[in-house]
Amino acid sequence: MDEIKSIGVIGAGQMGSGIAHVFALAGFDIHLHDVNAGAIDQAKGLIDKNLGRQLLKGKITEEEKASALAHIAGAPKLDQLSACDIVIEAATENIELKKAIFRELSEVLEPGSIIATNTSSISITALAAVTDRPDRFIGLHFMNPVPVMKLVEVIRGIATSEQTFEAAKGLVDKLDKTMAVSEDYPAFIVNRILMPMINEAIYCLYEGVGTVDAIDTGMKLGANHPMGPLQLADFIGLDTCLSIMQVLYDGLADSKYRPCPLLVKYVEAGWLGRKSGRGFYDYKGEVPVPTR
Ligand code: NAD
Repeated sequence: MDEIKSIGVIGAGQMGSGIAHVFALAGFDIHLHDVNAGAIDQAKGLIDKNLGRQLLKGKITEEEKASALAHIAGAPKLDQLSACDIVIEAATENIELKKAIFRELSEVLEPGSIIATNTSSISITALAAVTDRPDRFIGLHFMNPVPVMKLVEVIRGIATSEQTFEAAKGLVDKLDKTMAVSEDYPAFIVNRILMPMINEAIYCLYEGVGTVDAIDTGMKLGANHPMGPLQLADFIGLDTCLSIMQVLYDGLADSKYRPCPLLVKYVEAGWLGRKSGRGFYDYKGEVPVPTR
């Protein structure tokens, strides 16, 4: 395919807004779609704020900030993405929801365009199979927060072509990020290793081995992690953490991946972490307060 210039982003949540941010800054035209129109405006506000932070730190200029914002257009309807050279999906981590998006997208997107998914755990091959172009489908797994984190995991499905892989590699290079290639197995590399650790931290809390503070302080000062595992779980989103554990549990059929019942309970309560104002910490005040 020709050079990639325009990028569609589906899902304007934490990750979609970060993906739009970095590509807009790199000069791509962004069309940002969400099923919830309010999320698009919120994302634009967040991107403005985060670009402002980069400006204050001297990482970008006033002109670069203005140019990045001018490169982002809201697309309340999915068919507004039809002419994009690549569409990156970053909607909620749920296989049926993503499959429905890809079926609809296949009908409206130019046949030569690439489809990528930012899924944290779901089979790229299974998602590609519902599209009209499994050869032009790939996993591009960005890390949170996208403007800060250097890594992009790149995952080929069984049918992904070499041309699609090269195009994805080119995009990662243009963002000045580093690629790690993973095979298409549940949760790939980063979350296959990270999420069982987070789940184990939640088990420690559930079984009363330690408080939220003891667990996070233990791992920060004892293992030199920049964030404690419960703090990180809140940052990722507890619904996303639970979905990833379920994919590991179902996909690898091993009881060592069973999601902690306390994680399930928090998600049932709608306590999803930072994005909902409460998770293992309460975020309503100036500083996060442990909830256990
Ligand atoms: P989020 O809850 O912040 O955002 C999800 C967005 O998707 C919401 O704005 C929602 O309105 C939208 N959405 C839901 N259904 C939709 C549909 N049918 N069409 C269009 N938009 C729809 O979630 P997030 O943290 O941004 O995660 C998004 C994806 O990125 C997931 O696949 C997740 O696994 C992956 N991911 C998350 C992280 C993380 O740390 N949170 C890191 C890497 C990858």
